[in-house]
Amino acid sequence: MKDEIIESLVQIVGEDWVLDDLSKMQGYLYDETEPLLRPEASEDSVVVKPGSPEEISEILKYANKNLIPVTTRGGGTGVVGGAIPIKPGIVLSLERLNKVVELDEKNLMITVEAGVTLADLLEVLGSESKLFFPIHPGDEGAQIGGMVATNAGGTKAVKHGIMRNHVKALEVVLPTGEIVNLGGKLIKNNMGYDLLHMMIGSEGTLGIITKATLKLYAKNKYTGTLVVSFNTRREACDSVPKILQDGITPLAVEYMDRIVAEKAAQQLGSKWPADNGGSVDLIFMLDEPTEDGLYSNSEKIVEICEKYNSVDSIIAETAKEQRNILEIRSNAYGPYKDNISDALDIAVPPSTVPEFFDDIAALAEKYNNNIVSLGHIADGNIHNFIMGENGKLPSYYEELKEKMYKTALKYGGTVTAEHGTGKTRKKHMPLQFTEREIEIMKNIKNAFDPNGILNPGTIMD
Ligand SMILES: Cc1cc2nc3c(=O)[nH]c(=O)nc-3n(C[C@H](O)[C@H](O)[C@H](O)COP(=O)(O)OP(=O)(O)OC[C@H]3O[C@@H](n4cnc5c(N)ncnc54)[C@H](O)[C@@H]3O)c2cc1C
Repeated sequence: MKDEIIESLVQIVGEDWVLDDLSKMQGYLYDETEPLLRPEASEDSVVVKPGSPEEISEILKYANKNLIPVTTRGGGTGVVGGAIPIKPGIVLSLERLNKVVELDEKNLMITVEAGVTLADLLEVLGSESKLFFPIHPGDEGAQIGGMVATNAGGTKAVKHGIMRNHVKALEVVLPTGEIVNLGGKLIKNNMGYDLLHMMIGSEGTLGIITKATLKLYAKNKYTGTLVVSFNTRREACDSVPKILQDGITPLAVEYMDRIVAEKAAQQLGSKWPADNGGSVDLIFMLDEPTEDGLYSNSEKIVEICEKYNSVDSIIAETAKEQRNILEIRSNAYGPYKDNISDALDIAVPPSTVPEFFDDIAALAEKYNNNIVSLGHIADGNIHNFIMGENGKLPSYYEELKEKMYKTALKYGGTVTAEHGTGKTRKKHMPLQFTEREIEIMKNIKNAFDPNGILNPGTIMD
């Protein structure tokens, strides 16, 4: 990186907070994207760690004037290459903006700086409050700014939706350096166009989020986890809408093939608790204000599943039993990790999941690829792992992937439900959007970032 750029950044943040030595920068150049898909990072980068929105404003004014690309980095847990700097430029890490600004229990809201991690947030709420924040993408190293920028989802969307449903206000530094405050501690707010929601899910391409106010909820005291086993995917899938229609809204409803659950458990040195028949399992996570409510909803779920020919059910009540099931579910990726080409993030309308599963099974057979499917079934969000061949992408990888996307779109689905477009999914934007829709998106990008300095190559070129 040119000396004059490094010198200018040092003047803004101080020399302790600028890294240009490659060995020190390595940890800032990549994220958690599958290795076979990861875009190449530009080693001609400089990492800067500002300590305030004002410093970020100065950095952006400088970068905008000199047309230097800026890639924003949160926790680096993204899986679509969003935080990977593919052009020579500045990597801007939010890690020093890590303060909890205000826990406002009267308004049931919390305001945090963008670099606060999910783990930090959970710790503060766990120890200091009766309130909780429901969004949980698998890796607690994710930062709140990154979770807003990716509109993160996770397992608990059945009851609590996605990040977008809980962001009330943001402080954002625009690529031109202005600091703006969007939204407020409001339940209703209809004034003008909604710039707050433009920023959510914008993946570091429209502005840098420096502070967020999030909605909190009363903690439910009683939690339980239910595993219900079926012989067929279709019977398992068909039971889910009936449960929701009957007014039971679990925190999460997860789907796993038994073989996946057993392998994941084995890798952890544990045992999958459902072993009394069946080949697929649904995991229901429940939280209720009363013990009676927890038991009666668990019983109702079991009764409904029995009508769909479930063959077994177990209820985990102790914290240890529940943790064991969740750990195994979280490790579903583990046994396949070394041989996954791509972990897709497709979603379809929930009612079409059984047909979607059938179509994916047919494609798996046609291409002779042992596609593993699991996921957030009540959200229609299925993660399909396309397997590699001897550590490489299979020759038919692009063709198969496109067929899977087209299958999802046929049912009114989406290429990416929660991971984002990033750098690895943008090629398929024209599959999902019309030319006119993409043109409007380009105009929006232009309006925020006229010189195109923010996160080049992400969402669109
Ligand atoms: C094991 C594992 C499980 C996961 N499970 C889920 C899941 O269930 N659901 C889900 O939704 N995701 C999941 N993810 C993906 C990931 O955790 C989320 O996308 C997360 O929200 C990313 O946050 P981050 O801080 O790590 O962002 P990063 O990876 O650092 O960045 C992601 C994008 O946001 C931008 N960005 C980051 N911070 C800011 C900011 N302050 N201002 C503007 N732009 C910013 C970056 O430029 C980049 O484009 C998982 C990841 C892993 C590794």
